[in-house]
Amino acid sequence: MTTDPKRANAMDAYWMPFTANRQFKQNPRMVAAAEGMYYTTTDGRKVMDGTAGLWCVNAGHAAPRITEAVQKQVTELDYAPAFQMGHPKAFELANRLAELAPGDLNHVFFTNSGSESVETALKIALAYHKAKGEQGRTRLIGREKGYHGVNFGGISVGGIVNNRRHFGSLLTGVDHLRHTHDPERNAFTKGQPEHGAELAEDLVRLIDLHGAETIAAVIVEPMAGSAGVILPPKGYLQRLREITREHGILLIFDEVITAYGRLGRAFGADYYCVEPDMITTAKGLTNGVIPMGAVMVSSEIHDAFMTGPEHMIELFHGYTYSGNPVACAAALAALDTYREEELFERAASLEEYWADALFSLKGLPHVKDIRCAGLVGAVELEPVAGVPTKRAFDTYLRAWDKGAHLRTTGDIIAMSPPLIIEKREIDELIGILAESLIA
Ligand code: PMP
Repeated sequence: MTTDPKRANAMDAYWMPFTANRQFKQNPRMVAAAEGMYYTTTDGRKVMDGTAGLWCVNAGHAAPRITEAVQKQVTELDYAPAFQMGHPKAFELANRLAELAPGDLNHVFFTNSGSESVETALKIALAYHKAKGEQGRTRLIGREKGYHGVNFGGISVGGIVNNRRHFGSLLTGVDHLRHTHDPERNAFTKGQPEHGAELAEDLVRLIDLHGAETIAAVIVEPMAGSAGVILPPKGYLQRLREITREHGILLIFDEVITAYGRLGRAFGADYYCVEPDMITTAKGLTNGVIPMGAVMVSSEIHDAFMTGPEHMIELFHGYTYSGNPVACAAALAALDTYREEELFERAASLEEYWADALFSLKGLPHVKDIRCAGLVGAVELEPVAGVPTKRAFDTYLRAWDKGAHLRTTGDIIAMSPPLIIEKREIDELIGILAESLIA
């Protein structure tokens, strides 16, 4: 490896995100192309994408409609500011998303990523209470093991220690509910676990401690993906909804992973039958092709901002690339693809087959728990004594060599294949994981 960044093939200049850079650069895993369910590596090998990129390529790679829409849009209208100016596709996309979103989540704020969607939702929550005259509602509540992106608001309400501990004091006025990860009580449950709904009562304790009139919002992932596929216990999300509604606290679902069909429905909110006040999304919105995020907002919240003088800006927030035309074109084409190929329904119809395939791994060496919902699955391994994360990462490396890309978090292996996956490809993916666990 050279350290001269002037050399085209030098690897030192690129500081890779969430990557063990020094280790990666000794043994890089490089891809040159992708189509459908497969990557092609730079040395010409096919590797199955067992994770839909980073939980985003729901329609598979190089979905033709999306690729064409991007190519057409970039030559027609490449860019237009979103401040005090518009273009039709942004309005069309907002309408489509408002139709798709549950209940009265009828308004959409565009961002460029999941992290920005989270910051946007938190800021809207705080500003909403101010707009309504409830100045004191400034506290935010997240959850242990929650992943809400990497910006300061998101890591403050988030609950993953490595993402927080190096970065100073974070936001003040933030509390966390306990997480619901309980592989002892809920081991090997398909779908929602039986145990843990009582953890929602943590919110009542925080209300008793601080007073409801100081709390702006609670943010949770309906299914926590990044911390290793932690599913909501039966009744848990419903109880959070009851408590928040009773106390005038907003409930935000971070659906950056669960939106756009991952669980076999448009949103996790639909899958779990709980309607939040805001939903944050990104990833599958454009099938990962162009960075874009969207926050779905209830009419009640939106309308609270629409009361001042008409010439005044209602919300001092937005991004240079909010509603970027190329991103809008990609998103519209992604939504068309999901609808026309009936991919959400397809995910739902494969849920049982997927679960059975995953559970065939039960009993293999070191398998401590298996969890699943929709087309998401996780296999939790017993850690190697004194070397956490090693067992799962070694398994991941073996799977890569055998032709499948997985994802690890600690000693948990997570999978979330594109929703176009065929049953025989599910068998292939799980077969590679089985071999990698044994080897
Ligand atoms: N929220 C959740 C629930 C996520 O899973 C992620 C990304 N994995 C994010 C936010 C952040 O999204 P991004 O990486 O696009 O900023």
